[in-house]
Amino acid sequence: MSVYEIIKKKRDGLELTQKEIRFLIDGFIDGQIPDYQITAFLMAVYFNGMCARECVDLTMAMTDSGDQVDLSAIQGSKVDKHSTGGVGDKTTLVLAPLVAASGGIVAKMTGRELGHTGGTVDKLESIPGLQVELSQEQFIDIVNDIHVSLIAQTASLAPADKRIYALRNVTATVDSIPLIASSIMSKKLAAGTDGIVLDVKTGRGAFTQSYEDALELAKTMVDIGKGAGREVVALITDMEQPLGCAIGNAIEVKEAIDTLRSNGPGDLVELVKELGSDMLLVCGAVSTREKARSIIAENLANHNGLHRLADLILAQEGDSAVLDNTDLLPQPAQKIDVISQASGYVSAIDALEVGLAAKILGAGRKTKDDAIDHSIGIYLKKKIGDKVAVGEPLAVFYSDGDEAKIEQARKKFLAAYTFNLNKIDQPKLIHARVTKGGVEEL
Ligand code: URA
Repeated sequence: MSVYEIIKKKRDGLELTQKEIRFLIDGFIDGQIPDYQITAFLMAVYFNGMCARECVDLTMAMTDSGDQVDLSAIQGSKVDKHSTGGVGDKTTLVLAPLVAASGGIVAKMTGRELGHTGGTVDKLESIPGLQVELSQEQFIDIVNDIHVSLIAQTASLAPADKRIYALRNVTATVDSIPLIASSIMSKKLAAGTDGIVLDVKTGRGAFTQSYEDALELAKTMVDIGKGAGREVVALITDMEQPLGCAIGNAIEVKEAIDTLRSNGPGDLVELVKELGSDMLLVCGAVSTREKARSIIAENLANHNGLHRLADLILAQEGDSAVLDNTDLLPQPAQKIDVISQASGYVSAIDALEVGLAAKILGAGRKTKDDAIDHSIGIYLKKKIGDKVAVGEPLAVFYSDGDEAKIEQARKKFLAAYTFNLNKIDQPKLIHARVTKGGVEEL
């Protein structure tokens, strides 16, 4: 088999066989095929796409490139949840303990920040003492014990994806639906759960900004799941404006705790209820959506979800006192009001620009090996539909006090807001559900 011929075939818009795709991925991992040939192949996929069967073959080749987690020592059907990435998306921190308290089994391996979007591992690490780098045995023991654990995915999980992602990142081939779908699903399949609920974001703060692209991504991932014999459901949800009010790490953990205390922002609560219901259905803990919704709502209201988060923090060696006293989370050097220079009703908040403003303040990493300052972030005081007068605070910056960063972030942040004289309705949060049976518009 010749690498040249395989690249040429994809360049000319032809379908590759399973053998050809395996040959490329295995050869790349073995060091037989150099970066530049894989990069040419990625660019050919970017322009010519892949059919559903090729996407399954690419995903399985990447899944098989490393370890596959064996969760058979955990009794019952395990469910995972994955978001394609957003701004202020702390949903996993609320959902995982809540679904476990509602009868589901949540075994989740999760990642760090990617581009302008935050990562659950970074957020978890703002809880003092909490360990996310656990062995597989520890992970399994915790899930068996309290039905939930959240740990960092290891480098040995789908290493082909890790190396291919690094190439995509520097060759303008990230935003390709077959490549995003196979990247996400290779890690999810290797992580070994029976069911997967996907939150596919659409809007300015998402990797797939248009609804059509998000729908295609969702369908592709559901098809890959079907091809691999897993139960996969995807919701397409809005990321035009940030989710909730908090953007950062410790600040998002606080908002997640508040939500489990029945004091969360409306959009986050709505999303948690919908995704949580799907997670319970996917792992077979309940048989009807009505029942799933009522159990999730009950465990949110009676704080069983919060108690399960306390169990999780303790099991992973963290300080669960943060639940009663969120001041124990990392605190910023300064909190600075960001004052509105315009008046009217907020009609749009560009989630991408807000995510980038948070990064300028220091909420993310500059290089992949940078330490993160967990205390930095942005708290939105105004969201779409809210009325604002000149001089009112739009947000609070949680800052390390660096004036240059604050000024640069302030400019970017203020430019993210659009105002209108007339009141604007809240944007729709949940657009559609995609299952192997088809698309349900919501
Ligand atoms: N998240 C991933 O894991 N991979 C992508 O390609 C995009 C988002």
